[in-house]
Amino acid sequence: MSWTLGAIIISVPAPPNMLQKRIDDQPTISRDNIREAEGIFLQHLKRVGLKQTEQRNAILRTFLETREHLSTDELHRLVKKTDPRIGFTTVYRTLKLLAGCGLASEVAFHDGIARYEHQYNRRSHHHMVCTECGASVEFFSEKVGEIEEEIGRKHHYLTTRHTFQIYGVCEECRNRKKTNGRRIV
Ligand SMILES: [Zn+2]
Ligand SMILES: [Zn+2]
Repeated sequence: MSWTLGAIIISVPAPPNMLQKRIDDQPTISRDNIREAEGIFLQHLKRVGLKQTEQRNAILRTFLETREHLSTDELHRLVKKTDPRIGFTTVYRTLKLLAGCGLASEVAFHDGIARYEHQYNRRSHHHMVCTECGASVEFFSEKVGEIEEEIGRKHHYLTTRHTFQIYGVCEECRNRKKTNGRRIV
């Protein structure tokens, strides 16, 4: 059985008539980028009294090289291609550590499985998720940030973050349903 990540990665700037599914995509992440992210990670490991290991760094590199929203299981599968000795628990713990220093954030999609995406050099964005197939679209809207500020101001809160997600059924899933329906009739 093959596994898909449920969304298309567009790694070149999308032509204007094409729907862009990922925010600020860049074709590849440079060595300097990776080195800088490793530095951030190292500082965090020191803070929590842990050592930088080759396995932890390999996990970080694999994670940075993808633009997808990965479950621990999915990241583990990718990481094993580089180093088959890396275990699931190491990936799980490393993701928590990456989240602890802001290099990763957790995204909740349609199925209750925790997924992570890297936040290194990324613009803050939101997601729209298909509840049928799990495909996702990233989008950016200033309005959402404005609402946060406005509600905060109104109730004298210093707001720090928000979550906002749209759920729906993608065009492909709707078309599939239509076709299936016709066959039955
Ligand atoms: Zn769908
Ligand atoms: Zn995202």
